[in-house]
Amino acid sequence: MRVAGTVQESIVDGPGLRFTVFAQGCPHRCEGCHNPQTHDAHGGTERPVSDIISEMLKNPLTDGLTLSGGEPFAQAGDCAEIAEAAKKAGLNVWIYTGYTFEELAGAGDGGARRLLGFADVLVDGRFILAERTLEYPWRGSRNQRLIDVRRSLSEGRVAEL
Ligand code: SF4
Repeated sequence: MRVAGTVQESIVDGPGLRFTVFAQGCPHRCEGCHNPQTHDAHGGTERPVSDIISEMLKNPLTDGLTLSGGEPFAQAGDCAEIAEAAKKAGLNVWIYTGYTFEELAGAGDGGARRLLGFADVLVDGRFILAERTLEYPWRGSRNQRLIDVRRSLSEGRVAEL
């Protein structure tokens, strides 16, 4: 998997102590993006998924996994492997994406839907500079939503936290 980096013990990418994976490569190119170095799909570092999973499981104090970017759904297969390992280890899974929940849930791409199925919370939507806010926890712009994925999938409608 191509990654921009990983962070152990993050406290800014969701609740509790988190292991965060920043996927390398993003097709959205939002104006004002805070991580422009993650846009190039050929940048970053190539790492074996097994290596990332081992790093994630090393710290027994970790509460959850956050997949961020870049765009995690651009590498949905690799991210799904990491998310599945996290769920098996009892970690909660948050995913940041520039796509909307509706786009991912309705995608013909089975890989995207599989990754979505491992998420507890999806922070969705592109970063919109005109909607920028510091008031919404865990989000950068007002259009982005904190979505309870399990409830949304079972009820067939977006359920925000
Ligand atoms: S989706 Fe996220 S990483 Fe991609 S350009 Fe937008 S803000 Fe940046």
